[in-house]
Amino acid sequence: MPDACDAVVVGSGPNGLAAGITLARAGCSVIVYESNATIGGGARSAELTLPGFLHDVCSAVHPLAAGSPFFKTLPLERFGLEWVEPDIPLAHPLDNGSAACLYRDVEVTAEQLYEDSGAYRRLMKPLAHNWLNLSIEFLQPILHWPQHPITLAHFGILGLCPATLLSKSVFKGERARALFAGIAAHSFLPLEAPVSSAFALVLGLAGHAVGWPIPRGGSQQISNALADCLRELGGKIEVNHRIENLRDLPKSRAIFLDVSVWEFLRIAGQEMASGYRRRLESFRHAPGIFKIDYALSAPIPWKAEACRRAGTIHLGGTIDEIAAAERDVALGNIPERPFVLVAQQSLFDETRAPRNQHTLWAYCHVPFNCSTEMSDKIESQIERFAPGFRDCVLARHTMSAADLAKSNPNLRGGDISGGAANLTQLIARPILSPMPYRTALPGVYLCSASTPPGGGVHGMCGYHAARLALHEIFAIH
Ligand SMILES: Cc1cc2nc3c(=O)[nH]c(=O)nc-3n(C[C@H](O)[C@H](O)[C@H](O)COP(=O)(O)OP(=O)(O)OC[C@H]3O[C@@H](n4cnc5c(N)ncnc54)[C@H](O)[C@@H]3O)c2cc1C
Repeated sequence: MPDACDAVVVGSGPNGLAAGITLARAGCSVIVYESNATIGGGARSAELTLPGFLHDVCSAVHPLAAGSPFFKTLPLERFGLEWVEPDIPLAHPLDNGSAACLYRDVEVTAEQLYEDSGAYRRLMKPLAHNWLNLSIEFLQPILHWPQHPITLAHFGILGLCPATLLSKSVFKGERARALFAGIAAHSFLPLEAPVSSAFALVLGLAGHAVGWPIPRGGSQQISNALADCLRELGGKIEVNHRIENLRDLPKSRAIFLDVSVWEFLRIAGQEMASGYRRRLESFRHAPGIFKIDYALSAPIPWKAEACRRAGTIHLGGTIDEIAAAERDVALGNIPERPFVLVAQQSLFDETRAPRNQHTLWAYCHVPFNCSTEMSDKIESQIERFAPGFRDCVLARHTMSAADLAKSNPNLRGGDISGGAANLTQLIARPILSPMPYRTALPGVYLCSASTPPGGGVHGMCGYHAARLALHEIFAIH
């Protein structure tokens, strides 16, 4: 451990690395401490099942990374990052054997929604046209002076709506409603909750603007490229080093914590004034997940042809069914037919599995800190749309809430979002402030997904936190 440096970062997730790069680019000396043996936090890959099968341990599909205004400024391709675009970003199979899809093109997407073609065009086209301006607005704290107020207001009015309300008032048919509901369910909110539509709009628009790509060689490649970028700028990374207390860190002018609110409370709670600590303690978790990775002997035998060409598949059936499953989860119950997110990377990236064999990444939403084994329920949902799936399974690797927390302290209770993304916590993330990265501890900044803009691999939390510190501690503007 060095005696001193300009900035210390705790955690090498996308946000920690983004903070480190932003600081190192401005000339600061930076050291990153990572508790895990591998860098990357939520963007890692490993042979979880059998030799030769490379699985994404956490994140798999990356519309937010591909669309990140910060990542775009970095030479990540020079450090080996290559995006692979599946033929179809997303397919949502239905029981009649067809699938509603999100395509890169708004027109193509609209056309296969039949009676809702016009409605889809009217909803998405004007927003897709303004994607660049919009993404800058929502990838920062909500409390800010907008540069594009009219575009943001248009988005905001729609995004504030519960997904069930918006979907059912805009669309007449089951295909469009189900497609919209599946994307909205990425929010982990009940679909009757305000702002659940915002997730469907953002991820749908990102699909049109940048696709839902996967990195060749696994999500670890994103982290490796970010880490190489940081090292080239002079930054250092030390793995296998969990920080138990802020006092254990070397002297520095600023500390950046790529840790959840709860890990922040654990390592620094005693140093906080009680008022600030209580505000953090009132921050609420999102529900959790149960994850399975499979090694497969063949591609999944989807009934719907479109699913065989899609990178991501949403399994949950109709809007009412998905809404019921998400409602169950929010109430702390195990859904009988959970909403399942699936990615089939090896169809598009041959580095993921031995020749003619495949990987499958899947998770479902469960109540926070749930210990129920969900493999059977997940497999029933896959079999429902791909009969014969179980015959292709060579090996499985499961992760419950407890396993997830063991692999990354930020994933306590299986919450992969850094805290619920409900309306209150989108505005006050984790506290109400235009700059919530600044903590009550002098020189200490929170820069994880528990800060704006929240979960996902985009690095924007780290970037904004570092920019704030450069301004107020290092006087670099
Ligand atoms: C199963 C799963 C699937 C996901 N799927 C997607 C997806 O497809 N697309 C997408 O965009 N996002 C996805 N996400 C979300 C995404 O991975 C996270 O939102 C993102 O990684 C958050 O980044 P972060 O830098 O804030 O924190 P993290 O990525 O969690 O990184 C934090 C790092 O800090 C380390 N750390 C924590 N505490 C300490 C400590 N005390 N001392 C030292 N080190 C510490 C951790 O080990 C970790 O490496 C998924 C997440 C999971 C778990």
